[in-house]
Parts: sequence; structure tokens; C-alpha cells
Amino acid sequence: MELKTKIHEVFQKHFGEPGTVYASAGRINLIGEHTDYNGGFVFPGAIDKVIMAEIAPNDTDKVRVYSIDIDDYAEFGLNEVDAPEASWARYIFGVCREILKRGGVVKGFDAVFAGNVPLGAGLSSSAALESCFAFALNDLFNDNQIDKFELARIGQSTEHNYCGVNCGIMDQFASVMGQKGKLMRLDCRSMEFEYYPFNPEGYELVLIDSRVKHELADSPYNKRRQSCERVAKRLGIETLRDATIEMLDSIRTDITAEDYFRAKFVIEEKDRVLAVCDALNAGDYETVGNKMYETHRGLSYDYEVSCEELDFLNDIAKECGVTGSRIMGGGFGGCTINLVKKELRDSFVDTAKKKFNEKYGHEPKVYPVVISDGAHKEE
Ligand code: ADP
Ligand code: MG
Repeated sequence: MELKTKIHEVFQKHFGEPGTVYASAGRINLIGEHTDYNGGFVFPGAIDKVIMAEIAPNDTDKVRVYSIDIDDYAEFGLNEVDAPEASWARYIFGVCREILKRGGVVKGFDAVFAGNVPLGAGLSSSAALESCFAFALNDLFNDNQIDKFELARIGQSTEHNYCGVNCGIMDQFASVMGQKGKLMRLDCRSMEFEYYPFNPEGYELVLIDSRVKHELADSPYNKRRQSCERVAKRLGIETLRDATIEMLDSIRTDITAEDYFRAKFVIEEKDRVLAVCDALNAGDYETVGNKMYETHRGLSYDYEVSCEELDFLNDIAKECGVTGSRIMGGGFGGCTINLVKKELRDSFVDTAKKKFNEKYGHEPKVYPVVISDGAHKEE
């Protein structure tokens, strides 16, 4: 059944009079990995997988909300002390609180929501959930006076203050600002962004989810950050955003080999994002694909955040003639993102499933994605 119909049936059953329907999207990041904390660029887009909610003000000071997918109900007030127990409800409570903290208006409302963004697969279902409610509450109670970038920040603050996740801005930014057929280059230093056309005619984007997540003891993420910070400091700059390979080579003998290769990846990744921008403007998807493979190699050999399973999926992509393939996200598990010619898609997906299953004893999950609109009101 269509998502909207399903949500409406439940809404009608519990609340009667129809509300307004809103949705916001999950996201992919085409290129630009581990660049955010180095003041560099990321390159996300919203996808055709969403969280959708039907919402109506209820003239009380209580929020009453049903989650169809989790099959749960929560009711809470709008003061700080009213925080609900259920973790899914805290995303919604957090969005309400963050709007109120900024001087915005939130009153009681009834809501029913559901979605098709896979949870915890690296497509940011949590950002889709936050952005859907932030966009809706801006429309219902604030006359759309909160600007869209601030809606993304409201989602980010929700993760920080109510969900214990210390995330950057990319996921919420992409979910709120995404547009059909467009990716966005976000400058993580200035927060300026620009849309680029993404209409890969004859190609598809397919995510292959390894369904593995390696929990590593020694906080590899913090260690990568520290390497980058040390090199930047040694170069006398704030972040690696301002470094070049020549600058890095000039201090090569003064730093550890590990720090050298970490910084090399970050500097090259920034240049790759810029090269992808040019390629997209020229409609040159072969170059886009080559850059994706280069990113994978860099993440695997220089930044060392890949793992056996993701390297295996990347090798299969190469063997199958896939145009571009790389790890998406922080690494050590999760998905690869693949740009593949339409005619090769089925054979690639079948081969990846079969070979991965033979080697690791379970099939990866496959998510085809189309670059689509971010937060919006459903007509
Ligand atoms: P992701 O990488 O998908 O964002 P997170 O762990 O950050 O993974 O967020 C997943 C959480 O977001 C879920 O545990 C749940 O609390 C909430 N969530 C996401 N999608 C839904 C949904 N369809 N229904 C209810 N809650 C959801
Ligand atoms: Mg999340």
C-alpha cells in the first residue's frame, strides 16, 4: 500500500479529521568522505526514500504520535521535563524543543508517521525523521519563517541534545535542502552550498549494504581526526582545507608515515570533489565513476577505514564493469555506493549477492536510489 494511504488510514482511525501530510528524505553522499571535520566539501543529495507524517494541531499542549513502523505510541508535553522514554519519540520531542529554544512556536499536535528509509544503514533515517517534523512544524506553527538551513540545524541539535549523537550538519542539510536531479556541494567551513545537476541518463545509483559493522576498540575516528589536526598544526594552518600535496611533501620527513597518508587522503579527496563538480557540469559520468574508485582506494590504503567486506564489494564492482564504486560513510562496514550502467545493473547485483553470500554467509541488502526532493508538503 502506498505510504500516504497507510498513514492516513491510521490517522483517521485515531484522530478523525485529516491533517496535513509532510515528508523528508534520506540521503546519499556521492563523494567527499572524512572531509567535514577538515573544513572541506561534502557532496550529498536527497533520495527517493522518505519519512512521511500526517499532522494536525490539536488545541492542547500535548503531542500525541503514532509510529507505524515501530508500532508504538507516545504522548508528551513540550517542556524540557516532558522528554519521552522511547528513542524514536525523542527525535520528535527534540525537534519541538529546539524550535522553542530558538524562539519559534510549537503547540500540541497529533501525528502518525512511517517511512521507507532503511534504519541504521547509513542513509540517515534519523535525519529524515527530524527534517520531516522540523519542516512540518515550521509550516503549521511558524508561517515558514524559520529558514531552511536553520531547520537542518534544528535536526542536528536534536541529535546532539536529545539522542546522544555528535553528528555534523550534512545529513540534515541534505534531507531538508535536497532537490530532484541535483546534488549539493556543501562547504563545511563556510556552510555555503551550490547545486549541481545529477541526471545520469543510462546509469543508476545502487547501494550495496554489507550489513556488517566492525566495532573497533581504539576509537579509530578520533585517531584519524588527531592525525589531521597534527598535520594542520605543523603546517601552520587551521584545517587541511588549506593544504596542498606540495605543502604536505615539504614536511614529510618531520611527520609520521601514518599522519602523512591520512593527510594525503584528505587533501586528495578535496581535489576529487572539485573534479567531480566539473565532471557533472560536463555530464561526464565516467570521470565521476573514476573519482569514486579513487576515493575507495584512498579510504582503504591511505586513510585505512575500509574493511575486508567492503573491499570485496568494491572488487566485485570493478570486475562487473561498474562505472564507480566506493565506501559510503565513515567506514568499517555499512554500504558501498555504486554508479552502474543500467544494462549492467542486474548482473552486478546478482553477482555481488551471490559472491558475498558464498564468502561471508549472508546476502548484502540492495537499495536502488534516485536523487529526489528533500523536505516538502505533500500535495
Ligand atoms: P540512520 O543511519 O538510519 O540515521 P540512526 O541510528 O541514526 O540510523 O537512526 C535510526 C533511529 O531513528 C531509529 O532507531 C528510530 O529511533 C528512528 N527512526 C528512523 N526511521 C524510523 C521510522 N520509520 N519509524 C520510527 N522511527 C524511526
Ligand atoms: Mg542517523
